[in-house]
Amino acid sequence: MAQLSNDCFAFGDELMTTENALSELRNRLACVCETEVVPLTRTTGRILAEDIISDCAVPGHNNAAVDGYAVYFDDLSQSENTSLPIKGRITAGHSLKKKAKPGSAYRIFTGAEMPAGPDTVLMQEDCTVDGKTVTIMQGIDRGANRRLAGEDIKIGSTILTRGKRLRPQEIGLAASIGRKSLLVYRQLRVALFSTGDEVLDVGDDLKPGKIYDANRYSIGALLAQLGCVVDDLGILPDKNDIICESLKVAATEHDVIITSAGVSTGEEDYIRRAIDKLGCLYFWRLAIRPGRPIALGQIVKTPFIGLPGNPVASMVTFMRFARPALLLLSGAANIQPNFFPVPAAFTYKKKKGRREWLRAILFISSDGTLQAKIFSRGGAGVLSSMVASDGLIELDEELTAIKAGDLVNFLPFNEVC
Ligand code: AMP
Ligand code: MG
Repeated sequence: MAQLSNDCFAFGDELMTTENALSELRNRLACVCETEVVPLTRTTGRILAEDIISDCAVPGHNNAAVDGYAVYFDDLSQSENTSLPIKGRITAGHSLKKKAKPGSAYRIFTGAEMPAGPDTVLMQEDCTVDGKTVTIMQGIDRGANRRLAGEDIKIGSTILTRGKRLRPQEIGLAASIGRKSLLVYRQLRVALFSTGDEVLDVGDDLKPGKIYDANRYSIGALLAQLGCVVDDLGILPDKNDIICESLKVAATEHDVIITSAGVSTGEEDYIRRAIDKLGCLYFWRLAIRPGRPIALGQIVKTPFIGLPGNPVASMVTFMRFARPALLLLSGAANIQPNFFPVPAAFTYKKKKGRREWLRAILFISSDGTLQAKIFSRGGAGVLSSMVASDGLIELDEELTAIKAGDLVNFLPFNEVC
C-alpha cells in the first residue's frame, strides 16, 4: 500500500503557510491503490479507477427532439407554407418499416429514430393537419429539431477519467453507454477519535466542567460524506499511555487515523507527544486562523491527522487540510475545491502573514447583487456560526483589511462537505 513517503520531516518552529502545507500533502500522500468493481447503483461518491472509453455513440441514431413531422428540408418552400402528404408514423423505439421518400412527411415522436432521408422535424405546434395532409409554416431551419447520432458521446471518446469523483451526472453518463459496473478505488477505512478528559459522549449525563463531544459527530459526518468507512473509536482521556496504545492499535487496522484536540504544545496536550513517540510529525503549526495547531504525521506507516479541539476550527481545518489529504489517499485527481469571488458587505481587519477563514452568509443586496456578510459571533468554539452560514471566506496571507465592496474568495460548504 502506497501512502505517506517514509522520511520523517518535522517542520521546526516556524509557522507554515497553507500553500506549503497543501503541497506537502501532494508530495507525501499517494493513493491507497487497491481497486474493486462495484455495481453502478453503488458508486455515488466513489473515485473512478479506470478511464472510461465509449464503445458506442450516444445517441446511437439520429432522432427527433420533439413530437412533430419529419420532412426533407429541400421540399419546403422558403416563401410560403408547404403542404405534404403524411406517409408514415414513427414512434420511439421503432424504426420506419419502409424507405422514406422525398415529397412526404412522417409523423414522428420525441426520441424516435429519423428515417434515412428526412433531415428536419417540424414541431406539431407549428403544423396544421387536415386528414392525411400536413401544412408546415415557412421559416424553419435545415436540421431543426433533429438530434444527431453521437451528439452527446462519440464512439471511442474518453467520457470519464481515472480519479474522477462520481456524482449523479457521471453515473448517468456511464449508464448511457451501457456500463453496469465500474472499477473504483476501495473506500478508505478511517479511525476516528475524540480526546480530552472534559469530553462526554452524547447520551451521558452532563456533569460540571464537562462538554458533549461535537467533533466526533461533525467530523464523522464529513468523513461519511467523503465516502470513507468511519470506525468510530470513541473518546480518549488525557492519559499518555492510553492514547499511545489506542493509536498504535488503530494504526494496524486502518488507512488513516483522525483525532481532535490535544495537538497544541501545552502540558495537557498529549496527542502531539504521542505521535512524536509512535511515528513522526510533518507539520503541526500553520499560519492560519482558526485552528493553528493541526498535526499531520504517521504512526508506523499509517497517516495521522490531528485536528484542533475547538469545533469550528476542527471542521474548517478538516475542510481545507484533512479533506484534500483523504482525497489524495482515495485516488481522487482533483483535491482543490472551487472558490467564487463575491463582494464583501463588511469591513474586517486581519494580521498579515496568516490565512483566515470567516463564516459567511450570502444575500442579495438592495441593488440586486449577490454579497457576503459575516457571522457576528466568530469564535472558534461557536458551532452555531457554521449552521447559520453558507460557506467560508478565505482571506490570503498578504491581506490586512477588507472594506465593503472588495471581492473576497467565497467557498460554499457544498464544495467541501
Ligand atoms: P484542546 O485542543 O484540547 O486544547 O481543546 C480546545 C477546545 O476544544 C477546548 O475548549 C475543548 O474543550 C474543546 N473540545 C475538545 N474536544 C472537543 C469535542 N470533541 N467536541 C467539542 N469541543 C471539544
Ligand atoms: Mg485538551
